Amino acid sequence: MSIQRQSICILGATGSIGTNTLDVIRRHPERYHVFALTANQNIDLLFKQCLEFEPEYAVLTSEEHAELLQAKFNAENISTKLLIGIEELAWVASHKDVDTVMAAIVGAAGLIPTLAAVKASKKVLLANKEALVMSGAIFMQAVSESGATLLPIDSEHNAIFQCLPEHFVSQGIQSCGIHSIVLTGSGGPFLKKPLAEFPMISPDEACAHPNWSMGRKISVDSATMMNKGLELIEACWLFDVQPEQVEVILHPQSIIHSMVRYQDGSVLAQMGNPDMRTPIAHAMAFPERISAGVEPLDFMQISQLTFEQPSYERYPCLKLAKEAMTEGGNTPARLNAANEVAVAAFLDEKINFDQIASVIQQTLTETEYAGVVDLKSVLAADRVAREHAQQIVEALSTD
Ligand code: NAD
Ligand code: MG
Repeated sequence: MSIQRQSICILGATGSIGTNTLDVIRRHPERYHVFALTANQNIDLLFKQCLEFEPEYAVLTSEEHAELLQAKFNAENISTKLLIGIEELAWVASHKDVDTVMAAIVGAAGLIPTLAAVKASKKVLLANKEALVMSGAIFMQAVSESGATLLPIDSEHNAIFQCLPEHFVSQGIQSCGIHSIVLTGSGGPFLKKPLAEFPMISPDEACAHPNWSMGRKISVDSATMMNKGLELIEACWLFDVQPEQVEVILHPQSIIHSMVRYQDGSVLAQMGNPDMRTPIAHAMAFPERISAGVEPLDFMQISQLTFEQPSYERYPCLKLAKEAMTEGGNTPARLNAANEVAVAAFLDEKINFDQIASVIQQTLTETEYAGVVDLKSVLAADRVAREHAQQIVEALSTD
């Protein structure tokens, strides 16, 4: 059988998801062609990736880094064209020669290029959960208007997608007889740490996830469980369910990646080793299956799967996120913005680990709720919350 080669644009190619995506592509050169790679600052890695995959375009966000990369391209006679700026990210993501876009920029910075890919009816592989959390209704409306194919990369949502019947996309979740969605989370590195020690947690400790190797922002989000909170919001939009229909349970082994409960009592789970190449390969090849380089699951070695209820005292960010989704409007966008500022401040050692939740809570209380009418209102809510959270951080760090 001859395979149609897919042309791929990877937004955030130098990150954890980006490099895992390239690893899957490397195993299937007959299936995938790399059209564009983008990055923020890591020009050494982007250069190596361009040498290996010879994309038509590379995109950076600053002139300064682009000059350095261009010099490297010239020295090696690389013909990849180098573009600079956010508009250029959106331009490559919606280019007519692109079939598939891996949206793997971290944070709000990914929203505009990811939406551009959606509006251009691409097959969009969504890792950048913050984009959906911020703009849920607008994002999903753009998907339905453009006819873009949206496939989740987040391991939990990819698992749920795999546990739902195929007709859920065309006929809606109501036709599937589901009872609820069960999101699993490992609980991160501080599942058993005494709460009294939380103020002393260092950035490196927070980034040392027991099961997954990820970028620093999402690693901190996993330690606070804001990641699971963002995923709850993401699940509501992707699968058209209410926050009360999403259960969050702790499963420290990270073998069951999430589950769907059906009204007849059946529960379907997707399992595998914790390796992002599985959901990436699933979405890239969908509806086919391809090898991903992931070790087969060894049940004898796992021996047991355990489950616990998460505590809001240990994970206040999870509660904040659930409440934000219930409130709706611009609240998830404000939550996300405040979290990005607080996590960056924690990684910069300006605030303590336990202050991440208080920065977010205070920002939500002190900035205004509004309904979301368009992208402009989302971006405005993001900006206001970001500035407000920054002021709270400054006050805390000079205390
Ligand atoms: P990362 O920090 O490792 O990589 C982020 C990428 O985005 C890099 O290529 C970086 O150059 C680029 N980038 C950062 N800021 C940018 C900006 N302002 N403008 C343009 N590009 C920018 O992050 P990651 O762990 O790969 O996560 C990427 C996204 O995928 C996040 O939204 C995260 O929540 C989601 N995700 C990651 C994992 C994982 O295992 N790493 C799992 C599920 C979901
Ligand atoms: Mg996840």
